[in-house]
Amino acid sequence: MSFREPRAPGAPAQGDGIPLCAPALGGNAWRYLKECLDSGWVSSAGPFVTRFEHELAALVGRRYAVATASGTAALHLALLVAGVGPDEEVLAPALTFIAPINAVRYVGAWPVLIDAEPRYWQIDPDKLAEFLQRECVWRGGALRNRSSGRRVRALLPVHLLGHPADMAPLRDLASRHGLALIEDAAESLGARYRGVPVGSFGDLACLSFNGNKLITAGGGGALLADDAEQARRVHYLSTQAKDDPVEYQHGAVGYNYRLTNLQAALGVAQLEQLEAHIAAKRRIAQRYSEALGQRPGITPMAEAPWAFSTCWMYTVLIDQARYGIDSRALLRALEQGGIVARPLWRPVYTNQPYTSCQTYRCEVAPQLVSQALSLPCSVGLTEAEQERVIAAVLAAR
Ligand SMILES: *Cc1c(COP(=O)(O)O)cnc(C)c1O
Repeated sequence: MSFREPRAPGAPAQGDGIPLCAPALGGNAWRYLKECLDSGWVSSAGPFVTRFEHELAALVGRRYAVATASGTAALHLALLVAGVGPDEEVLAPALTFIAPINAVRYVGAWPVLIDAEPRYWQIDPDKLAEFLQRECVWRGGALRNRSSGRRVRALLPVHLLGHPADMAPLRDLASRHGLALIEDAAESLGARYRGVPVGSFGDLACLSFNGNKLITAGGGGALLADDAEQARRVHYLSTQAKDDPVEYQHGAVGYNYRLTNLQAALGVAQLEQLEAHIAAKRRIAQRYSEALGQRPGITPMAEAPWAFSTCWMYTVLIDQARYGIDSRALLRALEQGGIVARPLWRPVYTNQPYTSCQTYRCEVAPQLVSQALSLPCSVGLTEAEQERVIAAVLAAR
């Protein structure tokens, strides 16, 4: 038996099917991977790891990048070095892929889930401000949640689907309330907020190079920082907290969270393609929005005036009353034609480990989740394939 799901997001095409978001593996990938094999540098150190880190830091405009085994590992380390501890709280979006929320639990802290705003689907800064004002209080030199009594330590916005979160108010709220700011930019490398790259706003920021992301290393992540001590600590914890280059002396409970040179080689090759990938994603998004945006009941994902979106995962909202069928019926109709579509992530608090988590005014997130459907948007999607998807969407109702 196999646990592999052939239609997982990021899976390559099957037959004449159209996958959701398959990787595009051109450029220097073969050459760099061969260099690893020829040189013997395949494991968790090597020239491509260092190069990948330098190039990522330069791209986002940070002083340090530390490559990690996954984006989730980077989030875990970010929360650790930000000093978030057991029974503290982290403010995070109710609408997100689950990874950042799980990372909050890895350090023993609890997420407080804030609603999405309806236009760009990112964490709502107004509701966040309201939560901080109404539900939190300074006591004993610490910001506390009135209802739980716990210390509120960090704000963890996620740049969803390639689009930046509204960083100016978020950064302002974090600094006024003494919160560590950790950006989850896993889905949005290359996006810009008022011209400034996402990943450069938080004390720390996390990236992912999973197979379905804009660029992939097969798997992997990175943590971005400007503080030398924090970056050093992240590297230390990610390599089993080894104190001595020779002796097996360990000063903390460490992790095996390093990226391999093989993965970094692919990552470096992919990084050379980042601009081309973004251009392809934006072209695909524009074509979908032109073809589907006039259709009653279909609302394409939007780009805020202050945003440069990478359009990583092209998503539409389907209003059943006006379109005729709902998003899940459309999903099944597309599936009949070999076209893979996917809903967005169910609100975090509907998942078993999080049903008792505090939520704040989550009115919009469940609405978005019931209506949203992501359409095939691989970098390599051909015009003919895209026309097939558009025709299938228009014919489905
Ligand atoms: C993909 C993703 C991650 C990290 O995923 P990994 O598979 O662990 O690299 C984290 N946050 C968000 C929002 C993501 O989409």
